[in-house]
Amino acid sequence: MDNISFAAAFEDFLSEMQKYENSFSGDISNAFSKICPVLRVSAVRSDFRNTIYGNHIEPDSVKFFYKTDNIDTDAELRFNYTTPGEDIATYIFYQFKGDLPWTDNEKSKLKNISEMLFIFNSRSKLLQISRNLAYYDAEFKCYNIRYFQRFLGKLVKSGDIYDYVAVNFNIKQLNKINSRFGRANGTKIMERYCDMINGTLDDKEALCRLGGDNYAAIVKRTNYPNIEKLMLGAVVPATDLCGEDVRVASSAGIYNITHQSDKITPGEILDRVHIAMHASKRTVKPQIIEYDKQLYEMQKRSADIAAAFDDALINNEFLVFYQPKVSLNDYRIAGAEALCRWFHDGDLISPGVFIPIFEESNDICRLDFYMLDKVCSDLSKWISNSTDPVRISVNLSRRHLRDSDVVDRLVSIVDKHNVPHKYIEFELTETVTEGEFRELQQMISGLREHGFATSVDDFGTGYSSLNLIKQIPWNVLKLDKSLLPAKGSENIWQDRVLFKYIVAMAQEMGLECVAEGVETPQQLQILADNNCEMAQGFIFDKPMPSEEFGSKLNSESRRYSV
Ligand code: C2E
Ligand code: MG
Ligand code: MG
Repeated sequence: MDNISFAAAFEDFLSEMQKYENSFSGDISNAFSKICPVLRVSAVRSDFRNTIYGNHIEPDSVKFFYKTDNIDTDAELRFNYTTPGEDIATYIFYQFKGDLPWTDNEKSKLKNISEMLFIFNSRSKLLQISRNLAYYDAEFKCYNIRYFQRFLGKLVKSGDIYDYVAVNFNIKQLNKINSRFGRANGTKIMERYCDMINGTLDDKEALCRLGGDNYAAIVKRTNYPNIEKLMLGAVVPATDLCGEDVRVASSAGIYNITHQSDKITPGEILDRVHIAMHASKRTVKPQIIEYDKQLYEMQKRSADIAAAFDDALINNEFLVFYQPKVSLNDYRIAGAEALCRWFHDGDLISPGVFIPIFEESNDICRLDFYMLDKVCSDLSKWISNSTDPVRISVNLSRRHLRDSDVVDRLVSIVDKHNVPHKYIEFELTETVTEGEFRELQQMISGLREHGFATSVDDFGTGYSSLNLIKQIPWNVLKLDKSLLPAKGSENIWQDRVLFKYIVAMAQEMGLECVAEGVETPQQLQILADNNCEMAQGFIFDKPMPSEEFGSKLNSESRRYSV
């Protein structure tokens, strides 16, 4: 070897090494192929050891950077370096079998190369550490959204993205797992579940934690079925943590990225899977929803409805309709429910459409306060007209439970109109979670202390429990129409028995019973047979505008003929 050919080879080696961000990758054998033949090197190996334990510190820390098939493993030269983290990095050069020993000149050149290699490896390690800090969620042992966006960006740029499915999933009922096994175990179970998903991915796919129990993944279309299976439900080994294995499933939205979705950006991919995930969270079944045009239209309509709220409130587009509640003793109007109607751009939008959308934000609470205000204004008008009004019930969303001042707010609205509290009833639906249960208990007690009536709405649709109902001072139980024995039902006999006992037990607990959604004379007969006091339904009247209801109240008898 002459010094000139070494200088040229060394320069080639350095410029090749510069190309690789990761100087631990197999690709750097290209750089060594420039210099090793000049120095009669048959192989180059690295070995990183932790000084405390003397163990290899990483699975790929012992590796050949360069290898021919004529290595003399007995003729080697080693160079040791200490990293800033007190690890020992060793580089080993091997001669060819049967070759002459290296000269001192060659040995000093090999030392130069090992020094350069140590610099390149240290730089890569630092880069990896800083990337991990920026892109890795160390607490949850998972990549973060920044990493994911970068990863998506590369796939989009290369055009490979069209072979992929994007996924956004949310662990189902993690709060239940947390309350059963403790928060720390819940987190570990979530980690293990994600490890199971991660285990099906290769390095051309990625999983990241978006925050909370929300994850996103980008997976090859061919691998998607494996992830889908796990999202639908997987048994996570957890006997060491909680004495049993735990079944975990996810609500998920997916976006199958095809060429039709031309010029897609990482941001759009994330938006689309998010829309699909959101839709899947709203349904009980199915758990996995695919993003498509129809979903996009639905989402757009929801977004338009949500955006129209402020103006609609200012422009008085929300109207109160009243549906009478009729006493089954004398068929007179004994109360009414205030139901919201929205007249928007010449259309009538049903509460079934807009209430769930407003419930996603605090707008529902503003709407309920608005409705109460309008109801009180009608009541004070009827009182001053010498119409003897009936008790009006106003629906309250469970979102109010988060507001510790809600009772005071409601009282101040009613008092602004000088309406006696006995004319107001509040309807709320049942609750399941323990935290909510206590808040509900507090709220209902507060309302009762102020002399308002309170009712359990839609009893029979949720996880109905008369036992839980007993622990809250309700006045009224509103039986959902699904509990009413209906003509044509196969189980009419069982339905009748169930209905009978619910009414009897409610009355024993001192609750008034109102049957909702009564449509037929047969149903009315069943109510009468079981001593249910009140009914509300199309058989008497549909919800009607305020003026119409006011004149019904003013009519002599206020009585329906049946
Ligand atoms: P809800 O409180 O259970 O109200 C009873 C629903 O049953 C009303 O639907 C009413 O029109 C309907 N209904 C009454 N009689 C019959 C019948 O004989 N047959 C059938 N099939 N249906 C009957 P609506 O007005 O569409 O309201 C739907 C839901 O929207 C309400 O259910 C309530 O949960 C919610 N909602 C309505 N207005 C408000 C509001 O101002 N605030 C809140 N938070 N929710 C509201
Ligand atoms: Mg109601
Ligand atoms: Mg109801």
